[in-house]
Amino acid sequence: MFYVKTFIDESLTDLTIYVDLYGFIAKIALGRELSTGGCEVIDIANGKLITLPGFIDLHVHIRDYDFSYKETMESGTLAAVSSGYTLVCDMPNTNPRIDNVELLMRRAELARSKSYVDYSAYCGIPNDVNTVDELIKNEDLFIGFKIYPEDLRDKLNVIKYVLRNYGGLVVVHAELPEYALRSSTRELRLRYLDRPSWNELSVVEFLKGMNKNAKIHITHSTHPSTPTRCRSPGITFDTTPYYFMLSSDDVEDCWRKVNPPINDFISKSLIFKNLIEGLYDAVVSDHAPHSYSEKLCDWRLCPAGFAAVEITSRVLLTLLTKGFISHNLLIKYLCSGPAKILGIDNYFGSISVGCRASFTVVDLSKEGITGVKFTKTPKSGLDGFRYRGEVIKTVVGGEVVYDYGEVVGRPKVVVVGRGSYS
Ligand SMILES: [Zn+2]
Repeated sequence: MFYVKTFIDESLTDLTIYVDLYGFIAKIALGRELSTGGCEVIDIANGKLITLPGFIDLHVHIRDYDFSYKETMESGTLAAVSSGYTLVCDMPNTNPRIDNVELLMRRAELARSKSYVDYSAYCGIPNDVNTVDELIKNEDLFIGFKIYPEDLRDKLNVIKYVLRNYGGLVVVHAELPEYALRSSTRELRLRYLDRPSWNELSVVEFLKGMNKNAKIHITHSTHPSTPTRCRSPGITFDTTPYYFMLSSDDVEDCWRKVNPPINDFISKSLIFKNLIEGLYDAVVSDHAPHSYSEKLCDWRLCPAGFAAVEITSRVLLTLLTKGFISHNLLIKYLCSGPAKILGIDNYFGSISVGCRASFTVVDLSKEGITGVKFTKTPKSGLDGFRYRGEVIKTVVGGEVVYDYGEVVGRPKVVVVGRGSYS
C-alpha cells in the first residue's frame, strides 16, 4: 500500500492506496490509514512530493532488432520510466517492420522480458487484406494501426479495408505522400516549405470522407488550425513539444531534423496557444533516437527524429509550474487524454479503483537543464532548456521502478492490446 499526496479538484489531498496482487488499485481511502493489516507501506507523500497518475506516451520508437544500435527495449523504456512514463505505445517502423501477428507476439515477449514500463504496440498497415483479417482476430496483441504517408500511396485499398473493418484506433502521420516523399530542394531549416503543413488538413479531410468504423488519431500535429478545423466525433489530435518550442529558425543541424518538419515562427506560436488553451487530446514525445554518426551525416541524408521522451514530461511540468497550464490540463495531456484515445481509460490514466497502480511522483520546485541520460543516443534536439518540475519516482503496477535518479527495479510488465491487457 502507498501513502500519497495528490490533487483532487486542484487541491492537495492525502490518500492511502491499496494495491492487489496483479498491480492494480484495489481500494482508496482518504487520509493515511494507520492499520496496515501487515502490508508493506511505501510513503510517497512526504515533503514536497506530489503523486500524479502514471504518464502515458502515445508515440515512441523503441526500435530494437536491426536498429538496436539506435535504441533497445531496455534503453528506451529506461528513458521513459526516468521521465515518469508508465506506459508507452511503440511505433511499427522497426526493421523488420511490425505488421503481422508473429512479429507482434515477438514484440510482446520482448517487452515482458526487457521493458521497464507497461507496453503497447501499434501495427503497421500490412500488404494485403487477408493479413488485416488475421490481425483483427488477434487484436489483443496491439493497440491500433499506424498509417505513414507512403501507405497512402502504396496501400490505399488496405487502408480503406482497415478503416471499414477495424473498430479500434488508427494513428495517422498526416502528410500527403507526394510532398512527404520528395527530396528537399532548399536548405535544412526551410524543409517545411517543401512539406507544407497544410498537407495535414488535406489528409484529415480525405480520411474523414471515408466509410469507417475506426477511430482516427492525428499524431504530431503541425498545422495550428487542425485541432479546431478538423475536429469531429471520432477524431483526436496530439502534438509534441518541438512543434511549440522550436521554429524553423532554430533548425541549425540534423539534431533538429524531424518529420513533418518544424514549422515557421507564427505556426509555433499558434500551436503553443492551442496547447495552453487545451485544444489537443494528448501531448506525445515522438521519441525517435538515432545514432550519433547518423546525425552527423549531410542533412539531406540524416534520418529524421530525435530522442525526446526524457524531455517531454519536464517541458509539460514546467508549463504547469510557470502557470501556463492547470494541473487538470497536465493530467489530460499526459494521463487521462492518452488513456481515452487508446480506449483503456477504465484501467489506465487515473488514480481510481480498478486502475493500474502506476504513479508519477514529482517535485514541482526542483529545477534542471534538459538533456538525455538513459537513451542510447548522446543528444536530443531539445537539450539545454531550463525546466522546473522534476520526476522523482515512478511506480509501475505497484513497483517503485525509478527513485531519485536511479532505476531500482523492473516491474511485472503488462502488455496492453485493444480491450485487453496480459
Ligand atoms: Zn514517430
